[in-house]
Formats: sequence, C-alpha cells, structure tokens
Amino acid sequence: MHDDSLFIFQKGFNYSQDGPGNRLVYHLSGCNMHCPWCANPEGLSQCDSSTKITVDELVAEAVSSKLIFIDAGGVTFTGGEASLQKEAVLKAINRLKAEGISTCIETNASLPNCEDLLDAADYVIADYKTPSNNRLKEIYHGEISTIEENLLFRAKTGKPLLVRIPLVHYFNCSEDDTKGFLEFFTRLRKEALGELNFEILPYHEFGKEKYIKAGMEYTVTDGFVTDNDIKKLASAITNADLTLINT
Ligand code: SF4
Repeated sequence: MHDDSLFIFQKGFNYSQDGPGNRLVYHLSGCNMHCPWCANPEGLSQCDSSTKITVDELVAEAVSSKLIFIDAGGVTFTGGEASLQKEAVLKAINRLKAEGISTCIETNASLPNCEDLLDAADYVIADYKTPSNNRLKEIYHGEISTIEENLLFRAKTGKPLLVRIPLVHYFNCSEDDTKGFLEFFTRLRKEALGELNFEILPYHEFGKEKYIKAGMEYTVTDGFVTDNDIKKLASAITNADLTLINT
C-alpha cells in the first residue's frame, strides 16, 4: 500500500451519524472482518472498482469544503476498515489537523498496533460487536482482547469515544451477552478520562439488495431484534450510569 494514497469505494456528506456535525465521509476499501449483515459488501475487498485518492487530493477536497463543516463537522474515515490503510490515514489526519479540520475514524478496533491512529483522530467511533470470543470467531479470526485493549487505550487518552453495538438477534442478544457487554463497558467507564458514549444499532437489512445484485448469498435469517431486546440492553447500559446516545 502506498502511504500517500487511499483506496475508497464511496465518499459523500453525512450529518451526525459518522461523527459530530456535517462530515465529508470517505469509505475506505477492504475489511478484515466478515459480518454477514454488513451493509457495504462492495467495500469488503480492495478491488478494481476501488478509487485511488492521494492524500493531497483528499486534503484539497476537505479544505474546499470547510464552509460546510457546520456543527463541529469535519472529515471521517470509515470503511470497510479504516485502520487497514493506517499509514495513509494517519498522514491525512495530520495534514487535516494542520488545516484546522476535525477528524474522525470509524473502526472495528480489531487491529493491533493502532495506538497512533486511535490517538490521532479527534473523534473515534468503535464497534464492540460481542463480548464472546466464540461469536467473534464467526466473523473474525482474532481476539476480543485486542479490541478491548484498543478501546481502553482510546478511553484513557481522554479524547471522545463512541462505542457502537450492532444488535443482531441471533448473534448478541442473550442474557450472557448483556452481562458480558456490561462487564466490559463498566470497566471502560472506570478507565475513561474523557467523553464516553454508547449507541445501540439495531439490525437492519439496508444492504441486502446489494448482495442479491452482486450474486452474493445473504445468510442472515434471524437478525431482527425486538423492542424488548433493545430495551433490555438500553436499560442495562443506562442503569449502569453509562451514557446512551442516538446519532
Ligand atoms: S466490520 Fe464493519 S465493514 Fe467490516 S464486515 Fe463488519 S460491518 Fe462490514
């Protein structure tokens, strides 16, 4: 990977869901996880359809968009998995900072040796998909401990962290899951030196059509959660004095 370029599969503006305010969002190609509910299957690999953008081009685009970064907006790097292109993202973040532009990364937080990236971004949105190593193995051949260490690292920097839980019925809705989520979240709160928020993202099938159009099999059959599933986790989070938000 050339450090001066990023491979993306999509870019555009989005308000508040990819970090604070109005943001120019770059979707980076490639992901090291295989969540069967992923809404962006077209971004899971770096293929011929990826677009290459240099850091110079990206910074120029962002600078020319400065006036519309309202409400503390800026630039967000999401995916796919942004940390797979760490060196170029870091370079872009440092250049954007020098231009006074706020930066955010959205990450599955699974890669080791990402402390520099997790520290550099003004805002980090990180998934915590399951407290179970067995479940994690269904989507990724790595350890939860790495994800937890990354989240703890960011929390200890004192910079804002939003932890997102994609709530999927068959995957992470049991009593044990709720207990496991809370165990880690309360530990994270204890260690956090700054803003720490949580958000539940109920399963949806916005990406299903893309699988069908691409001739890929969509395998999730028991993903939708009930209001009760959402309330159960939401209450557990708020009862533990943790802050739940909706972006
Ligand atoms: S981590 Fe995110 S981008 Fe990667 S497969 Fe899962 S949902 Fe898709």
